Amino acid sequence: MDEERFCKVCGKSFLANKYRPNQTVCSSLECQYQRQLENMKKWRTRNPNYFKYKESQDSSWRETCRQRSLEWRKKHQEYLKLYREEHRDRHRTYMKNYMREYRKNRGLAGDGESSKNNEAK
Ligand SMILES: [Zn+2]
Repeated sequence: MDEERFCKVCGKSFLANKYRPNQTVCSSLECQYQRQLENMKKWRTRNPNYFKYKESQDSSWRETCRQRSLEWRKKHQEYLKLYREEHRDRHRTYMKNYMREYRKNRGLAGDGESSKNNEAK
């Protein structure tokens, strides 16, 4: 039998699912989201060193990632070269248009402040 309970987030009554006898939050999205946040917070206070621990373990893992991306790049370098050559003209046109638009928009803004910033770079 379903049992009527009151949601601890929104306070509305809801019917607890018999398969989830410990349910204390109704099934509305907002309340479920709040419940997840709550669980995460609890979990973090219970495992305060988890992320630190992970990080110290991760240096070798990070190295693996770096290696992998290098390998990927090596493998695809030929392809990337071809791709770039094929698209160079199109890319150039695109950038030309883009810069023209960019200058036009900057000109319209005309607050003097932005050009000063650009000179600094
Ligand atoms: Zn609720």
